[in-house]
Amino acid sequence: MSKRDCYDVLGVAKGADKKEIKKAYRSLANKYHPDKNPDNPEALEKFKELAEAYEILSSDEKREAYDRFGHEGVNGQQGYGGGGGAGGFSDIFGDVFGDIFGGGGGGGQSRTRRGSDLRYTLELDLEQAVWGCDEKIRIPSLVNCKTCDGSGAKKGTKPVTCQTCQGQGQVRVSQGFFSVQQTCPHCHGAGQVISDPCNDCHGQGRTQEYKTLSVKIPAGVDTGDRIRLSGEGEAGAQGGPSGDLFVQVSVKPHNIFERDGANLYCEVPISFTTAALGGDIDVPTLDGRVRLKVTAECQTGKLFRLRNKGVKPVRGGPVGDLICKVVIETPVHLTARQKELFTELAESMGEGTNHSPKQKSWFDGVKRFFDDIKK
Ligand SMILES: [Zn+2]
Ligand SMILES: [Zn+2]
Repeated sequence: MSKRDCYDVLGVAKGADKKEIKKAYRSLANKYHPDKNPDNPEALEKFKELAEAYEILSSDEKREAYDRFGHEGVNGQQGYGGGGGAGGFSDIFGDVFGDIFGGGGGGGQSRTRRGSDLRYTLELDLEQAVWGCDEKIRIPSLVNCKTCDGSGAKKGTKPVTCQTCQGQGQVRVSQGFFSVQQTCPHCHGAGQVISDPCNDCHGQGRTQEYKTLSVKIPAGVDTGDRIRLSGEGEAGAQGGPSGDLFVQVSVKPHNIFERDGANLYCEVPISFTTAALGGDIDVPTLDGRVRLKVTAECQTGKLFRLRNKGVKPVRGGPVGDLICKVVIETPVHLTARQKELFTELAESMGEGTNHSPKQKSWFDGVKRFFDDIKK
């Protein structure tokens, strides 16, 4: 079974502080305590679930790992960090062998367990996200050990009943005034122990292999979108079904365009002269250049909307627009002659704000401001 979200278990918000978490844990633990719910396996499961969720959320380190990677991030040892490849493997695997018997119940019930879901962060360029693409990803994966056929026991031997819990997978331990049923520390709930472990998988029944998968990225995806590859997650334990692989899209920043939903935004620098006299400029779009007419006396900040030059959203809906913002550049590296011309121009324009529409309204505003103070 896949585990429930720790925050849901405790009934707190994602951003809850330590005090809230503690309070929620106390009141729920009180409610589901085994002493108050004798012979109630459901309450016991809840109680164990709570204890686990609290253990994770009450530790800064574990909580951070959990927030980033989910349950995979907090189980067992952290291995396989920082591999190369498109997304880096550290996102997928916190735990490789840590939780194999974790979900096993007590007694004689079936111990097959669905493999964990895995997450893989795939970084894409804006163009790849907008047009769609086929990406190959290489991911570490747990598969049934071929040597022992997944049993974990050396060829010719079998797992034996755990002596600590007599095969129950659970033991009762005293905690102060009451006793609590806990997962057997010896067999970790499996009810069986492997006395002669398989050399290849060290008794885990599964081994790690890398597999390469082709992922079809549909056009229009954006950061945060997830693509589910069902059955491509971790192999199940003892013949259980495999989990799913979630490919999480992360779009890299683009040096020209910024995306907001279906729309794209960009800034287009234009010269002082073009702004004053008008003219044609070239504007980049995702599928080539487009010529744009700038009318005379154009101001900085003016927006041009190019219809349907944005993104077609992956979930349908109209194609977005490209919105270009004009930014007027003040000329630099002026020669003496150019400076002279500017001086001449300034003189011809004279005093006042007749040629400066923004300045005029700005000065009016300042004047009103001071008039109001004087009153
Ligand atoms: Zn093996
Ligand atoms: Zn045991």
